[in-house]
Amino acid sequence: MTTTRSGVTSSWQDEQADSCLNELELRAYSSRLLGQDPHLVLHGGGNTSVKLTETNIFGEAEAILWVKGSGGDLGSIEPAGFAPVRMRQLRALAELTTLSDLDMARELRTGTIDPAAPAPSVEAILHAIIPFKYVDHTHADAVLTLTNSVKGAALIQKVYGDRLVHVPYVMPGFKLAALCAHLYPRQRGPQTIGMLLMNHGVFTWGETARESYERMIEVVSLAEACIHQQVRGRPRPVSPVPSSSPYLEVAGLRREVSEAAGAAMILQVDDGPSALSFAQRADVSAISQQGPATPDHVIRTKRLPLLGRDVATYTGEYERYFAEQASRSERRLHALDPAPRVIIDPQLGVIAAGRSAVDACIAADIYRHTIEIILDATDLGGYRALPAEDIFDVEYWDLEQAKLTRKGSPAPLTGEVALVTGAAGGIGRACAEALLRKGAAVVGLDLNPAVAEVAPGPAWYGARCDVTDPEQVTAAIEAGVKRFGGIDIAVLNSGVFPPSQRLDALEMGAWRAVMAVNVEASVALLRQLHPLLRLAPGGGRVVVIGSKNVPAPGPGAATYSASKAALTQVARVAALEWGADGIRVNVIHPNAVFDTGLWTAEIIEARARQYGLSVAEYRANNVMRLEVRSQDVAQMCVAMCGPAFASTTGAQVPVDGGNDRVI
Ligand SMILES: [Zn+2]
Repeated sequence: MTTTRSGVTSSWQDEQADSCLNELELRAYSSRLLGQDPHLVLHGGGNTSVKLTETNIFGEAEAILWVKGSGGDLGSIEPAGFAPVRMRQLRALAELTTLSDLDMARELRTGTIDPAAPAPSVEAILHAIIPFKYVDHTHADAVLTLTNSVKGAALIQKVYGDRLVHVPYVMPGFKLAALCAHLYPRQRGPQTIGMLLMNHGVFTWGETARESYERMIEVVSLAEACIHQQVRGRPRPVSPVPSSSPYLEVAGLRREVSEAAGAAMILQVDDGPSALSFAQRADVSAISQQGPATPDHVIRTKRLPLLGRDVATYTGEYERYFAEQASRSERRLHALDPAPRVIIDPQLGVIAAGRSAVDACIAADIYRHTIEIILDATDLGGYRALPAEDIFDVEYWDLEQAKLTRKGSPAPLTGEVALVTGAAGGIGRACAEALLRKGAAVVGLDLNPAVAEVAPGPAWYGARCDVTDPEQVTAAIEAGVKRFGGIDIAVLNSGVFPPSQRLDALEMGAWRAVMAVNVEASVALLRQLHPLLRLAPGGGRVVVIGSKNVPAPGPGAATYSASKAALTQVARVAALEWGADGIRVNVIHPNAVFDTGLWTAEIIEARARQYGLSVAEYRANNVMRLEVRSQDVAQMCVAMCGPAFASTTGAQVPVDGGNDRVI
């Protein structure tokens, strides 16, 4: 088995371009084409611009640079994602001999003609000094491969000649703009269509959106062809020793990483053949400990991955790196947490870490591309990243540090992982969605295959699963741990509600079937989750969905009432036995929650009639005369997982609008 690189191609479509109403829309269109190809740009990397003339409120024509807003994503950018900055201001800034990053950020902001526009990209001045209407900038994989390889300079000269201005690495922002302003007139030739930034990326430009875009595709294709030609005939073996999916080891590692980060972290495991092959290479310690392919990535991946599982040594080394590098700075820098964001382990594969499932996914994507770049550059003669100082300067530059202090506090369950059974509908779905809203990643189990689509996105993993089948449950837990790194919260919700049957007519097969789902399956799941819950960075939590029938059973409901009473008793014992492991177990007793799949309008009407009530009276037949919704149960579930219940275990809380038999 071998891997192959798929080449970039132009995705330009005339109909799409023709449907753009103005040049800014066209600028957004071709920016999206760049942003949607991960071999060109990943997660917010790269930037683009167009120079247009706008008439101001005094009727004067003004030259304006529309440049990508800082932090925006090219893949989904719209005209509103561009910041309009006066060219006059940008040209004046370019004339300065020195400009601090914070001063630059302020001047770019004050130079915009619309205070509601996003902050202009830190590369705005560089875009302004390039004397072409359209300017495109990417961190294309193939270009990074060439510029990070030891023979890169020679290969680049051979491939591009004077078609690209060749710029040695300097810090992005004002310094880079100043260096490009200096080099461009000196190196420019009649063939020049762009600029190559060593260890960083590439610019192309043109008089039309299409020209600039297709020049980018051409420049990157030339790099790809060069790499292909150099490494052809050297197939890369991909036949690793398979991973044994030791999910408890992953959860143990996550606990250590979370402790180092000072907050719960999501870990995403890639144990596919490419990741494992990389992790098992004899030279992995040499090639993985060089640094990122472009400094921009450091914010997501940190400078170096952890090799193996010694988190304590990694954090010690990170703290040393910070202390050493920070001593060069005149300002007092705020140290980032020392936890790794990428872990390479020959047995587990490549693991990405992040404060949220989205962050872990971004780190995973970036490192997947980094591996390809490292391997190609190694085949070209050697991968050579920037020295630690340059990476540190981007990791800790003013603008990033300012971003950190601006960022508000994350949602309370950020970085935590919940498992919810019966998550495709009703109370289970409401709990799953409420936990997602509070920042948790959620593993949803349900017999209904629709569980996969409950909340599409990085924080959701929905598995079709019969909770009475131990093999299916184990597979779902393993897959969930591979996706998020562990399980911190278990919401035991799945259950069956059998038809009303009096004791003297009870059918024992039906009794056993209900007990198998409502009691046995839940006990088996609790047993299996215990070692994971014990490793939860913020302490394990179990929320059991019981029933009003536990304190106040009804006639005809022997089976259901007994099953929920047994489950409640199990939860109370779990609270006693697992308290010392930091696991809290609490029970919710809902009643008359009608907005679930169990209740149809006909059933509700029949029940109401049975009690001699109107439907409205029956729906709100409680002390408070209110309708209890699955949302209300979900709110209680979230509260039980949060700080309000930090000192509470073994509690049984009704969510029923007040029931006179329970009170
Ligand atoms: Zn860049």
